[in-house]
Amino acid sequence: MKLISIVVPAHNEEKNIPLVSDAIKKVFQPLASRYDFEIVFINDGSRDNTFEEMEKLAQADPRVKYINFSRNFGKEIATTAGINNCSGDACIMIDADLQHPVELIPEFIKKWENGADVVIGVRKESKSDSAFKKTGSKLFYKILNRIAEMKVIPGSTDFRLIDRKVIEEFKRFTERGRMTRALIDWLGFDRSFIYFDAKERINGTASYSVWKLTRLALDSFVSLSLLPLRLGGYLGIILMLLSGALGFIVLIGKYVLHNSIFIHSFSDTQNMAIFIIFLVSIILVSLGLIALYIENIHREVIERPIYVIKDKKLN
Ligand code: UDP
Ligand code: MG
Repeated sequence: MKLISIVVPAHNEEKNIPLVSDAIKKVFQPLASRYDFEIVFINDGSRDNTFEEMEKLAQADPRVKYINFSRNFGKEIATTAGINNCSGDACIMIDADLQHPVELIPEFIKKWENGADVVIGVRKESKSDSAFKKTGSKLFYKILNRIAEMKVIPGSTDFRLIDRKVIEEFKRFTERGRMTRALIDWLGFDRSFIYFDAKERINGTASYSVWKLTRLALDSFVSLSLLPLRLGGYLGIILMLLSGALGFIVLIGKYVLHNSIFIHSFSDTQNMAIFIIFLVSIILVSLGLIALYIENIHREVIERPIYVIKDKKLN
């Protein structure tokens, strides 16, 4: 018998906890001959009775487990705690609000049995999303894929299954500001995709407001690359070349050719402007250089695994 862990982060989801739990149990009934399951709930500092609901379920059924955070740490950290503490041969993470179709779990398991180490639920575009959220997410993935080291599939969600191998590698990450799915993507491994329609949230409201989403997007840009800072450096290089060349021509025109070319029409103020732009460009280039240093420091302090091994045979 293989054990499948279902990791469910929850923040103010009191009404949904019994519903997800029931839905998961139902899904596993027909699979009972081959798979055991455990549910690992993480109560992420809820202010309602989410934890009491978890406790009740855990008392009635030993397959239900929970982790209770002392305060709200955010979904990414909650999911991380679940992954780090589950004991399954594979782990599937799902939202507590039933927006991730639990019925698809058998398909995730099938793809896993067929050799995928990571099975990713990809969300088809939802009609209920506002135009702002839609264009926002499109733009987000476009920029992200331009600047990040690894490709992220638009619409790929946290609804995913990862094999024990991937769980063990995942545990090695030490960075705090993290996007769980981006880290899983970074690890590589054989990936497989399942497309699904996101459902409406049943109870409660989404904890992610537009503002929180924007901050998450900015956070991921900053944590994934220093391109914004490097851009300043590139701008500096361009300005330095332009103002440097212009300044050089002005100097030559003035002192070597003694105002014989058109340059003599430049006023002192304009010459001064060229000089100042040149100085500013030096500052910008220095900023770009600092970005490179910070990038190196950043890479060292997050202590990512240097490499990730998929298989090995050494003797
Ligand atoms: N969640 C969490 N901590 C938070 C915010 C959300 O554990 O600080 C959980 C929430 O209970 C749900 C999942 O993360 O199970 C997704 O949250 P939500 O539905 O608010 O986001 P969306 O569906 O808009 O991605
Ligand atoms: Mg939701």
